[in-house]
Amino acid sequence: LGARINGALQALSRQPVIDDKAVDALLREICGALLESDVNVRLVHTLRQNVKKRVDLEVLAASANKRKVIQTAVFDELCSLVDPGVQPWKPRKGKQNVVMFVGLQGSGKTTSCTKLAAYYKRKGLKVGLVCADTFRAGAFDQLKQNASRAHIPYYGSYNEADPVQIAMDGVAQFKASKFDLIIVDTSGRHKQEAELFAEMEQIAAAIKPDNTIFVMDGTIGQAADAQARAFKESADIGSIIITKMDGHAKGGGAISAVAATGSPIEFIGTGEHVHDLDPFSARPFVSKMLGMGDLGGLVETVKDMQLDKNEDMMKNLAKGVFTLKDMRDQLQSILKMGPLSKIMGMMPGVSPEMMRGMDAEDTTRQLRKYMCVFDSMTEKELNSDGRLFDAESRLRRVARGAGVRPVEVQALLHQHRQFGQIVKRMGGPKGMLGKMNPAM
Ligand code: GDP
Ligand code: MG
Repeated sequence: LGARINGALQALSRQPVIDDKAVDALLREICGALLESDVNVRLVHTLRQNVKKRVDLEVLAASANKRKVIQTAVFDELCSLVDPGVQPWKPRKGKQNVVMFVGLQGSGKTTSCTKLAAYYKRKGLKVGLVCADTFRAGAFDQLKQNASRAHIPYYGSYNEADPVQIAMDGVAQFKASKFDLIIVDTSGRHKQEAELFAEMEQIAAAIKPDNTIFVMDGTIGQAADAQARAFKESADIGSIIITKMDGHAKGGGAISAVAATGSPIEFIGTGEHVHDLDPFSARPFVSKMLGMGDLGGLVETVKDMQLDKNEDMMKNLAKGVFTLKDMRDQLQSILKMGPLSKIMGMMPGVSPEMMRGMDAEDTTRQLRKYMCVFDSMTEKELNSDGRLFDAESRLRRVARGAGVRPVEVQALLHQHRQFGQIVKRMGGPKGMLGKMNPAM
């Protein structure tokens, strides 16, 4: 997709005159490329109208770089399609939050339930999983296995055939045991059938969830629009998880899901492992989708993402200080961009050893594991230089919280120490980092 759009933009710059005809031709090419990426036909049409409106206006300004204007307009329009402008629901502290998962069979509900449970468990919530899928043989066993592996309490039944009853019993039991977050997995069918929606509505009426999460397979292409609309009609969808974004998903499905439901994407699933769940962010998602892998685009993306967080770190660096939190923020912004191994090697916090012999996917997995470790640290630990972890018990506590082995926490601390030394050498008022402009 990126190559095709870039090609079209290049062709435009070779045109002697950039008139309406040239802009039309470019837009045709870009829209063709978006359709190939499974962006819904209707949405592509709207996007084209919007871009054209903007470009017409901008053409008035003679000096405008039209290539750039069109590229920016397409980028912005795609971002606004995938960002409905509402914050996803978050569990409230001191409340017993109930979340219900809906989606077709095979979309990744059961897997994503466990991922989400593990995510909030790491944030310190007491989380329970309820299996209200009595349709698929072995559904309870699957959830049980996933949940046990992630050390998450679960509820289900081999005897009760009524999913509504199981959902109610499970929620009641976890509520009685003072759980903070109760996640209810439901059944799916192969198609958007009436029985499925009836069951979904009955369960929702019985447990009155605080949020309903719609799970959609990111690889289903143009079918996404109809599927998302069907679910929107019968469920009160609060947020969305798009799964299998590690596979051949082209991104268009995610856009359709948001457009059809008006609900925000909260996470994307990027693998079968319990840690393969990434918070969603519109701009990096669209950049990746458009394949803006050229260095210029990359630098811009990096700048964009660091603006919000980086000031503290720049101050620290200038003083020759590099805390665990600095390392976390840095790795977090890399993760948001996806597996771009090329630049990863250039970021503070990632050493050549970490990169060597690893493909981009392994690196991402490793980073995500590191994030879990950071999530298990206290504020005091994050703001430290890591020496606190000389205490064995502290190290073990964090490893347990993150679901990793203590050696993995040690590996992270080792990385951090190495960078800390570099920062110390280069920092201070006379060092290279001290001279850097903190407003960069
Ligand atoms: P459910 O029927 O909606 O509960 O779907 P499952 O959770 O059972 O998932 C169906 C299949 O998709 C399983 O083989 C999962 O391992 C796989 N799966 C789920 N999420 C992801 C993902 O993000 N990436 C990949 N590669 N596979 C996934
Ligand atoms: Mg399931």
